[in-house]
Amino acid sequence: MEPIRWKTKNVIDSHVHFEHNQPFQHFYDNADLANCTKYAVLGLPFLAEQNDWLLEIKRAQPKRFFIFGRLFHDPAKVARGDGGYLVEQVEHLMHAGFDGVKMWEGKPVQRKTVVPWPFDHAYYRPYWEYMAARGVPVTVHQGDVATCWNPAKPRENYADGASFESYIREAEAVLAAHPKLRISFAHFLWLSPWLDRLDRMFRAYPEMRIDLAMGSEYLHCLSNAPAEGRQFFTTWQHRILYGTDINDNNSFRMTHGKAEMLRLFLETDEEFENLTALAQGLEPPVLHGRSTFRGLNLPPDVLENVMARNFEEFAGAEPKPVP
Ligand SMILES: [Zn+2]
Repeated sequence: MEPIRWKTKNVIDSHVHFEHNQPFQHFYDNADLANCTKYAVLGLPFLAEQNDWLLEIKRAQPKRFFIFGRLFHDPAKVARGDGGYLVEQVEHLMHAGFDGVKMWEGKPVQRKTVVPWPFDHAYYRPYWEYMAARGVPVTVHQGDVATCWNPAKPRENYADGASFESYIREAEAVLAAHPKLRISFAHFLWLSPWLDRLDRMFRAYPEMRIDLAMGSEYLHCLSNAPAEGRQFFTTWQHRILYGTDINDNNSFRMTHGKAEMLRLFLETDEEFENLTALAQGLEPPVLHGRSTFRGLNLPPDVLENVMARNFEEFAGAEPKPVP
């Protein structure tokens, strides 16, 4: 398999993971194959040693990897709704050489198992205030794809919890309360079926960003109306970050499929197949009436922003050194 050949010189994947289910070398080989200039490796909260592994990756290749640490929640303080201690954790991460914070606490399952509070609860207020004042970038997983709440097929963690809409309102409440917060919502914030909503949010909150990590829902949605998709990306070309969700669990074929699908989607006007489904030997799913995709063929200046410049604006042009 050949490494991906990108149209733009500089490519930063803002959203990859390392779970240590494979050796570090497999992760680095995946990075070679996707062939980006740099990567941001985002911490996952279900892995206790996650921050240590991220530091190990950055020490091994300090110019290539940004790292976004995870937070640890103290059950007694969570129960009291007292989250002031999270500020010290971020200070510690920043001193240790982390570039930002990743929050998975907006995922419905996390609300049931770790922190029940929504992001606009007092528990998080000192933390958001600190993040906004210091300009620390934060990537947030908020909600999940709206079809998880399908009343005909209610799923565990979704059926009796907060609605999809309440997760979006919660995001808006945080943005309104902390307008200087440097925040990027992963997975298109699941709003590709409602571009007008996203449009209003981008207009209202100038520091808000989204990333393109799959969840492939937005690929299905925007492929149905590529001209509208191209217009949306052009209008908001400074607010959308390239990202794939590549993980060390991924085979070479899967990694290549993720990056190549986004290359075809962003750089070309071709019709193409669901390469990640094929990489897993799965029947490509039908979502929003289609199983194949159509590229947006973005203009070169828009591509340069989405592929790298927006991440540099968000988290800096170079990873911070590890002391
Ligand atoms: Zn992810």
